[in-house]
Amino acid sequence: MECLFCKIVDGEIPSKKVYEDDLIFAFCDINPMAPVHILIIPKVHTASSMDEITPENSKYVARIFEKIPVIAKDAGLTGGYRVIANCGPDADQTVQHLHFHLLGGKKLSVQLG
Ligand code: AMP
Ligand code: ZN
Repeated sequence: MECLFCKIVDGEIPSKKVYEDDLIFAFCDINPMAPVHILIIPKVHTASSMDEITPENSKYVARIFEKIPVIAKDAGLTGGYRVIANCGPDADQTVQHLHFHLLGGKKLSVQLG
């Protein structure tokens, strides 16, 4: 399958990895919107977006949310952080492999677009 994030997990496309375990992979966003901007994804292509989360694949989401505080702490986000998931065209989702943005490292604006 032609999926950018699957290629990143496979190492076919290079990335700056910040965390990996048996289920999930986290790496720096190539176009950071904040001093810290990390993408956290399932290692397998189990869902294109939040719309495809099911009882069968929700363990990936659970692991992502279990590890977000660990990844945030390792990234030095002592002042807090924001987690965002863009789902579908109205949210400007550009990569169709389920992912969560972890943003921080400055006082984030509240503007939602
Ligand atoms: P979204 O718009 O929510 O689908 O998020 C996709 C994110 O992937 C964007 O923030 C992009 O900057 C990021 N991105 C695209 N290509 C790469 C890449 N090769 N390495 C790291 N991040 C990427
Ligand atoms: Zn994929």
